[in-house]
Amino acid sequence: MTPITVDESPAILLAEDDPVTRMLMTRFLKNAGYEVDAVANGCEALDRMTKRYYPMLVTDWEMPQMDGIALCKAVRNMQLDGYVYALLLTARDAKEHVIAGLEAGADDYLVKPVHEPELIARLNAGRRILALEHSLRVANQRNRILSITDALTGAYNRRYLMEQLPREFERCRRYGYPLSVLMCDLDHFKLINDELGHAAGDDVLQQFACRAQKFIRSNSDWIARYGGEEFLIVLPETSHDEAVVVAEKIRLLVASMPFSIHGGDAAVTVSFGIASTGPTGPDLGLKVDAMIRAADESLYKSKLAGRNCSTGQQMGVPLALAAHA
Ligand code: GH3
Ligand code: MG
Ligand code: MG
Ligand code: MG
Repeated sequence: MTPITVDESPAILLAEDDPVTRMLMTRFLKNAGYEVDAVANGCEALDRMTKRYYPMLVTDWEMPQMDGIALCKAVRNMQLDGYVYALLLTARDAKEHVIAGLEAGADDYLVKPVHEPELIARLNAGRRILALEHSLRVANQRNRILSITDALTGAYNRRYLMEQLPREFERCRRYGYPLSVLMCDLDHFKLINDELGHAAGDDVLQQFACRAQKFIRSNSDWIARYGGEEFLIVLPETSHDEAVVVAEKIRLLVASMPFSIHGGDAAVTVSFGIASTGPTGPDLGLKVDAMIRAADESLYKSKLAGRNCSTGQQMGVPLALAAHA
């Protein structure tokens, strides 16, 4: 999103059917430092709006094809990159017209003939609103990221997992492709804390998340911190066999290279429990909770089998030890 501050001049889309007024207005606005695109009616304006984001719209009321009121209404129904501050120009100054303009979605109106200093002053007021709206949007995005991220590891948190996994599940069901989840649990992690300290344990958790992230597809797979030293990796469009390969790659990467932590190296291993849908996606009765439970059961088997290994289960197919170091 393009940042907007009161010091910058946002791009303006000007819609005005009268060529002389259009030319004069364009000149006013350009002299005031604005970037201006000018069109002759509401339809053209709407078309421009679909091609790029204009933070400001200055529109005449009476125009052929689509007037300023219809244009404001249409703009308010569009999904755009940011707020559009709309200023309506009108020869009509009766109260009911002003009300109609504001109710159609205009933020302000100016009675023609336009007085240049007043136009610029009103646009400055609009810029303050745009800057506020932008900072609010940025703050909301930041809060959203914070609310779904685990602060220590940068992985998604459990809230996000519980929100997003059912959606992934539904998508797989609709399009008929498989989905796998990997439950990962660091082995004897308590010993790392006990022997090297809690801060070293934190380092290991961070580095594990970082290494795992490198071995998954950045545009579709994702990792969430499920609990203390447990992570769940979600692999959409991934069959059971492919999931085993991913788990084994991460497992070997962790086991083969000690983690550098404050005060030395730590040898770390991780166990995996894999659960996958069938090749054409989840069966109708299959629930997300059951998949997670199945991954957890498989993980438990990996722990019993000696840790540092992967055990997998395709839903509906009996549990099998997929790989063992
Ligand atoms: P296992 O191989 O059976 O999984 O053994 P484990 O020691 O890894 O498992 P256990 O459940 O006994 O211990 C997990 C430890 O993880 C205990 C807890 O203090 C630690 N832990 C949980 N969250 C954090 C964290 O955020 N930072 C650190 N440093 N340790 C954590
Ligand atoms: Mg007109
Ligand atoms: Mg655990
Ligand atoms: Mg553990």
